[in-house]
Amino acid sequence: MSGRVVVVGAGPVGLALAGELRVGGAEVTVLERLAAPTTESRATTLDARTMELLDERGLLAALGTVPREPRGHFGGLPLDLEGQPSAFAGQWKVPQARVEALLGDRARALGADVRREHEVRALHRTEDGVTVDAVELGSGGTCG
Ligand SMILES: Cc1cc2nc3c(=O)[nH]c(=O)nc-3n(C[C@H](O)[C@H](O)[C@H](O)COP(=O)(O)OP(=O)(O)OC[C@H]3O[C@@H](n4cnc5c(N)ncnc54)[C@H](O)[C@@H]3O)c2cc1C
Repeated sequence: MSGRVVVVGAGPVGLALAGELRVGGAEVTVLERLAAPTTESRATTLDARTMELLDERGLLAALGTVPREPRGHFGGLPLDLEGQPSAFAGQWKVPQARVEALLGDRARALGADVRREHEVRALHRTEDGVTVDAVELGSGGTCG
């Protein structure tokens, strides 16, 4: 893969995508309006498939020892997860902020350019691709 990609948002999805795009050879810039990762309480667990994906990328060691819960629920209905066909059956207690830090470190180590305090204001489709209008917050400047 080649080309230049702008990812809007440095949440877990944007940071994971940035890392994957770098592995594929794209030049990646992540634009995030927040100055720092949010400290709001968000997701607290990872499911088996997410753990498999982190394992495939060699990222589990960085999480250290992760507590496992063999049961979960769906809409309040209890679920026994022991029988899942996975080496990572169950739910794993990892706060979202920790996952974001992990994915951000990986994206940057792979060469993604993660720019905080950059807000995307508009996208324009052109014949060659897409142009992005972004503002560097606090500076009053814009970037194309
Ligand atoms: C209170 C709360 C509790 C939750 N609890 C759970 C839970 O227990 N389990 C669970 O699985 N999930 C939970 N979630 C959901 C989980 O947090 C989301 O699914 C996850 O954050 C989505 O990731 P994302 O990267 O798609 O989006 P986000 O994490 O929302 O990231 C998007 C990023 O894009 C940035 N952005 C947006 N627009 C622009 C722009 N124009 N320019 C620049 N940057 C921009 C935002 O600042 C943000 O940082 C919870 C969510 C909330 C709010």
